[in-house]
Amino acid sequence: MRNTGDVTTDVMCSYCLRSRAETGRLVSSPLAAICRDCAESAVTLFASANRDDDVDGPVTPWQRLDDDALLAQLPHVAAAGTLVETHLRTWVVAARERGISWARIGEALGMTRQSAWERFTKPE
Ligand SMILES: [Zn+2]
Repeated sequence: MRNTGDVTTDVMCSYCLRSRAETGRLVSSPLAAICRDCAESAVTLFASANRDDDVDGPVTPWQRLDDDALLAQLPHVAAAGTLVETHLRTWVVAARERGISWARIGEALGMTRQSAWERFTKPE
């Protein structure tokens, strides 16, 4: 867990944007995390829909927030971007530890070897 200003870049639910402190345990991947409440809502939604129907997701988080609450969430959304960057750096470090070249890492990310090297070797 890192702090950037007053926003903690701890894992948060990618769906309701609540922190782990608010939600309890999260199931997370490098790209997203989900809390128990959101996972249970998704299961209920899938269970109630016909198998071939498109399933509408839950109301977007901002639809149920007033303006002040929406604005209060913006730093947390920005922090999620920081968290994704941290995860990406971790994966790149793992690739480098395997001896994978900067050229291949760059190719995987759609950038040049030089760009990959510069992006991931400079301090955050
Ligand atoms: Zn959630």
